[in-house]
Amino acid sequence: MNHIIRELDEKTINLIAAGEVVESPASVVKELIENSIDANAKSIVIEIKNGGKDYIRITDDGFGIPQSQVEKAFMRHTTSKLSTFSDFNTLRTNGFRGEALASIASVSNISITTKVASSINGTYLQISAGQVIENYSIGAKDGTTIIVEDLLFNTPARRNFLKSNQAESAKITDTIIKLGIIHQNIKFKYINNSKVLFSSYGNGSLETLFYMIYGNDFKNNLISVNENLASNISLEGILGTNSLMLPSRKSQHIYVNKRIVKSKMLSNAIEKAYKEYIPSGRYPAFALNINADPSLIDVNIHPNKLEIKFNENLNIYDKLFYIVKNELKKITMIPSVKPVN
Ligand code: ADP
Ligand code: MG
Repeated sequence: MNHIIRELDEKTINLIAAGEVVESPASVVKELIENSIDANAKSIVIEIKNGGKDYIRITDDGFGIPQSQVEKAFMRHTTSKLSTFSDFNTLRTNGFRGEALASIASVSNISITTKVASSINGTYLQISAGQVIENYSIGAKDGTTIIVEDLLFNTPARRNFLKSNQAESAKITDTIIKLGIIHQNIKFKYINNSKVLFSSYGNGSLETLFYMIYGNDFKNNLISVNENLASNISLEGILGTNSLMLPSRKSQHIYVNKRIVKSKMLSNAIEKAYKEYIPSGRYPAFALNINADPSLIDVNIHPNKLEIKFNENLNIYDKLFYIVKNELKKITMIPSVKPVN
């Protein structure tokens, strides 16, 4: 190493960013579905092959991208969702960093067909490892279809790190279920190696989706929650009762403003509230969405957008714990361990 400090070129910057955004085929699926949701899609079809390593296609009926903007959408830090930092105070979209498409395009063969309702023709654009191959007008339906092929083909070391098709496929299924269950007004269809693994009608409730996915046992074993956590923050969703203690955390879903979050703080608060009813090694099932005024949360923590911070003064942990505990008290839960008098 010499001591000359260089500015990295765009290609290298994208490849580095892709390391954070494109962690696996499931993270690509998540980013693309989130874009469809942000485009007000009412229907989203996802098709994958071979664990998403070779083929991912997402089709939506959202508002599309005008021809003049399509190439721009694939550049780094280009977004239609945010223009100044203060926009975070009102931001409700899934995306805002403007780097998903650029990152995915830098490590795959990607194509987009997109059309806005106000235009007669759509646009087709193909990019390979960050290089534009083709861009032309094409007849298309309103909305957007993106096909991602050969993920990480130009970074073979990273491609080799991907797990088996089956394991990558399972992560994709989890991601789609997580998004599908909380966006009850959107019709989802998920096809994996030609098999339909999940479909929803776009008019269900969280309850119906929950037992559609996890089985009819859930039908009479869910409590609905709708409470205020603090001013401008509310909690809504469902809690599984004690007959639904499962061997894994797979059916635990936590969202903030309908965005998937991974938060030890939030899941610990909920599990602690369940504690006296759960035998060790068993986990409750729940799907909870915290609706918060965007000015009270920080979503800009990691490029994968799974982390979130609440204003400390809000004491979210305690409030969440007490609300869940109170809800559970209302019904007959059989404690797993009898209290000792
Ligand atoms: P972000 O979502 O953070 O804005 P992305 O790289 O994911 O960044 O997308 C860049 C831009 O491309 C978005 O801001 C949006 O304007 C446009 N876009 C991406 N996907 C879609 C889609 N499915 N429908 C309409 N517009 C889209
Ligand atoms: Mg996005």
